[in-house]
Amino acid sequence: MSDFSIFDGHNDLLSCLWADKSFTGDAFFGERDGDLSLEKCRKGGFAGGFFAVWVGGDPGTGPDPMAVFREFPAIDCARAHQQTIAQIAILLRMTRARPDAIRLCRSVAEIESARAAGAIATILHIEGCEGIAADLDALHVYHAAGLRSLGPVWSRPNIFGHGVPFNFPASPDTGPGLTDAGRRLVRECEALGVLVDLSHLNEAGFWDVAKISTKPLVATHSNAHAVTASTRNLTDRQLAAIAESRGLVGVNFGCQFLRLDGLKNPNTRAEDVLRHLDHLLKHLGEGGVALGSDFDGAMMPDFIGDAAGLPNLLAAIKAAYGPELTSKISWGNWLNLLGRVIG
Ligand code: ZN
Repeated sequence: MSDFSIFDGHNDLLSCLWADKSFTGDAFFGERDGDLSLEKCRKGGFAGGFFAVWVGGDPGTGPDPMAVFREFPAIDCARAHQQTIAQIAILLRMTRARPDAIRLCRSVAEIESARAAGAIATILHIEGCEGIAADLDALHVYHAAGLRSLGPVWSRPNIFGHGVPFNFPASPDTGPGLTDAGRRLVRECEALGVLVDLSHLNEAGFWDVAKISTKPLVATHSNAHAVTASTRNLTDRQLAAIAESRGLVGVNFGCQFLRLDGLKNPNTRAEDVLRHLDHLLKHLGEGGVALGSDFDGAMMPDFIGDAAGLPNLLAAIKAAYGPELTSKISWGNWLNLLGRVIG
């Protein structure tokens, strides 16, 4: 068991459960091969986080998963709408069935009370809004169902904007920014108290959100471009804008976003994570850095493995920064940020 409780900025459990046809979420409570299960979370101190809805590419489309440059085509919105609802329903069924183990939270107060009860606190997040039409009606319905965070795009284009393709070494400045519908989506999210995640936007989209937003800027699962020049990572200019807004970046554990060579190689070490943490702390300050694992969505370093291995990472962070800053990075900074965005 870890000395630290962990609140995490991103995982893809729900889309994995959907793909495995575990529509009640039962697999999470039993033994599953993935990064997250109840037992692995309890072992590792994983006490809460953003649980993402994510819809994969249309069958037969998409690049080789091991390619360095990966560009993804737009997907069918009717299918995305259906799957978005299905994945939200998985989380609703899980949290209804086992409130002792996992709870849907809509506020920091609900996160704190889940933690006090020993239950995993979940924030419902949508990663790529193909399941929302330009009228934004679905946003209101999802919000009523508990949605408190979304990324307008995943790494592909949709009616709201242009996601950043995966590439290395390359700039995140890969195309046009938000559409008019995208700007309306950002404004409506602000009005509802829904966090707008910048992690998969290209650079122009990032600056469009920064221009409109009055809230802290947040990238739930991204790293430093100056360290690993992936299109998915943030340039120092972007980090300066996040710092100015008193925003936050969750460090992504995906090997290709951490390593100096940008490769998907699980022989990735704690020092690779610490190199990014050093850079992010320098640019964002002690209150602007947290964790954003990408569990069940990216290749994890061998030294972490899955949620049960989080204490290995936390031990390295504690050795580098001491217990106080480690507990801000692992829990406190996310709660502080969420208090200022969703309440
Ligand atoms: Zn992602």
